Amino acid sequence: MKFGTKAIHKGLNEGQSTGAIIPPIYQTSTYIQKAPGDHKGYEYSRTKNPTRTALENNIAAIENAIHGFCFGSGMGAIDTIIKLFKSGDEIIANNDLYGGTYRIFTKIYSNYGIVFHFVDLSDPENVKNFINAKTKMIWIETPSNPLMNITDIQSVADIAKENKILLGVDNTFASPFLQNPMDLGADIVMHSATKYLGGHSDVVMGALVCNDDELAEKLSFIQNTCGAVPGPQDCFLVLRGIKTLHLRMERHSENGKRIAEYLKSHPKIDKVYWPGFEDHPNFEVAKIQMRDFGGMISFTQKDGSLETAVNFATRTKLFALAESLGGVESLVGHPATMTHAAIPLEEREKTGVVNSLIRLSVGVEDVEDLINDIEQALG
Ligand SMILES: *Cc1c(COP(=O)(O)O)cnc(C)c1O
Repeated sequence: MKFGTKAIHKGLNEGQSTGAIIPPIYQTSTYIQKAPGDHKGYEYSRTKNPTRTALENNIAAIENAIHGFCFGSGMGAIDTIIKLFKSGDEIIANNDLYGGTYRIFTKIYSNYGIVFHFVDLSDPENVKNFINAKTKMIWIETPSNPLMNITDIQSVADIAKENKILLGVDNTFASPFLQNPMDLGADIVMHSATKYLGGHSDVVMGALVCNDDELAEKLSFIQNTCGAVPGPQDCFLVLRGIKTLHLRMERHSENGKRIAEYLKSHPKIDKVYWPGFEDHPNFEVAKIQMRDFGGMISFTQKDGSLETAVNFATRTKLFALAESLGGVESLVGHPATMTHAAIPLEEREKTGVVNSLIRLSVGVEDVEDLINDIEQALG
């Protein structure tokens, strides 16, 4: 079955008794039992809720995975993964991560004795320098946020398998329509469903998928024990969002290409970061592991001052200045003061998240209007 069909149909019929074509919002905390332990698969909504089950199965299906789990946020999903590990374990991650991921690694889990190594994984071989007997997971984000670096998932997966290390992939930026890390050898795929999966800027949620039954058992145990679960209304919203994921991603990618090319040819622009350019250092990898290149673009102006960047971000009219990404409406962000403010300046500059960097989440509006908006904001 192809992507659009799976997005619309898969996983939805669990617990249906009325024939409703859409899974209802089961706004219930508990379920009546006939006798102790004699129930219809649902006991308490932290453990399982039918609206959430439908969504979990649906997300697993579009990521070509077997098991799915949803959480109250993307960070709740990442938190669940790290709880698989214990003090002394080591995790290798790429060095340009979503700011919140960097924060939970360094400000929370470092305190619990988990050791993190941040490595430039644009060459997957670099990971080998950090692998030792304590290494338990490699964590990658590709395309990365906000610099659109591409990591070769298949090559990292091969190294991880050789060394019996888990590979986790944050697939938020690509979405399951553009990239399926499970097919390339990942063990766990994570999404901030807040972004493209939800797609309408109206919900905060996270998701994990995996294939291995034993791993699924552990994730399910942590999900139920720690309780970072989403409510049924939010699950309904994300289920609705996913139905048009393929249509939205096609338009995000189309608009993204037009705007990336426009920026690249603009005399005031210095660097443009977008994986669809042939001169992107990992274009060949991106072309193989992604179906298209999406609508996330970062750039700097030749005038590299903080002020010029902030001026741009406050002058756009259609691109709303806001955190987040992946919704139908276009957003502009200033990573240094917004999403990546938790990362110290010297760390940021090492990886290229300079004060003049601007990030665009290109929406699905008419691209001519978006280009006009950028034009006047640069003017
Ligand atoms: C937003 C985001 C997260 C965190 O997700 P929340 O839903 O905001 O908790 C993690 N990774 C990436 C790449 C993100 O963009």
